[in-house]
Amino acid sequence: MTYQGLKLTKYSLGTGDRFAHQAKAQLQACVQALAQGAEVIPVWNKSNREHLIIGSEPASVRQAADAAVQALHWKLPYYCDADHITAETVGRFLAPCDFFTLDVADFIGQAAPPAEIDAFVKRHAELQGRIEMAGADEAFEMTTESLKQTVRKFLGAVKKAGEVYRKIEKAKGAGNFIPEVSMDETDRAQSPAELLVILAAIADEGIPVQTIAPKFSGRFNKGVDYVGDAAQFEREMALDVAAIAHAVKQYGLPENLKLSIHSGSDKFSIYPAIHRTMRRSNCGVHLKTAGTTWLEELIGLAEAGGDGLELAKEIYAQAFAHRAELCEPYAAVIDIDPAQLPTPDAVRAWTPEQYTSALRHVEGSPAYNPSVRQLLHVGFKVAAHMERRYLDLLEANEAVIAKNVTENLFARHIAPVFLGVTGDGARQARNADSFVTEKA
Ligand SMILES: [Zn+2]
Repeated sequence: MTYQGLKLTKYSLGTGDRFAHQAKAQLQACVQALAQGAEVIPVWNKSNREHLIIGSEPASVRQAADAAVQALHWKLPYYCDADHITAETVGRFLAPCDFFTLDVADFIGQAAPPAEIDAFVKRHAELQGRIEMAGADEAFEMTTESLKQTVRKFLGAVKKAGEVYRKIEKAKGAGNFIPEVSMDETDRAQSPAELLVILAAIADEGIPVQTIAPKFSGRFNKGVDYVGDAAQFEREMALDVAAIAHAVKQYGLPENLKLSIHSGSDKFSIYPAIHRTMRRSNCGVHLKTAGTTWLEELIGLAEAGGDGLELAKEIYAQAFAHRAELCEPYAAVIDIDPAQLPTPDAVRAWTPEQYTSALRHVEGSPAYNPSVRQLLHVGFKVAAHMERRYLDLLEANEAVIAKNVTENLFARHIAPVFLGVTGDGARQARNADSFVTEKA
């Protein structure tokens, strides 16, 4: 198969802008990356769930992105991602989006008809026995029976992705959008061998997939660090990358196919592993960091003091009062220790510095409170209900908020992942002319 049309390049950053006010500050982080020698393509993503909670339309994401690109004279590509959509929810995303994350996690385990499973196993003799992959120091071993089990688990889900893909293709035309397939919102990680089988099935479905989001082992909680074995993550990622390269050759998938890492914000302990793997394998990643920008809005409001600080405290008080209901939809991706949550009265007495240092995710900072951060992360509904009152304060404090948004994306995310620079080095990188990075 040869593919024509939109092509996502090596490094890309999925970024979320819940209240559609920070696109410019987010793009500024990509401008800084470019100045350091890395082309990091911005992709604004917003899921249907977020749109429902905020009460926004997908077209607003496109408008904000277009305006930011114009304001900063960004000449490289940029995209709007219909994140985690299904056949039922894709409709209103068709016109404004050019990147579609086909979410099939809910269909994993719903077996395809036995005849289709048998036909797949028959068609793919190359997936039975020992599979050697270039660049991997481990081979995969699959028996006919283990292949059959894997196919039973995933074929139905991939066929669902095919349905959604064809629906989008019919509306937009092949090549006019970037398809991603995601399976991350499920309870069990997929092994690299399973990923290879999934990719074979995706190729059979004729989906020109450019990014694939498996669930990795370890915990990817929202807005906080990775919990798990970083060395094991690195081995797993290297095998996933080898499986992708193998599938591209074997099944003719698009050559730019790469991993998409969801809930990718703040996974500081595995960023060095991600960077090393990209360097070793000469591959790229798409890093999705959706919710972190909204927290920078709160940090900026608190830092501004006055009405901004008062509002940030009120949001905490309301989030605290409604914590059970706010956390419920995200139960699988947060770990809040209730004993670590200060009372709203205690927070009401905080200085700007106390609020920002509790919320800001700085490794090793004794004041940083991951439970406060996770509660506020899922608490954006509180701000959504404030409507104009919240937005007016965002606008009144634009400069201080923008500074935090840009700094967070550039120094804490782009620099360690794409430039391989962490800690103080990353914060200094933006101003130092002597800073050189190898263009991987
Ligand atoms: Zn996801």
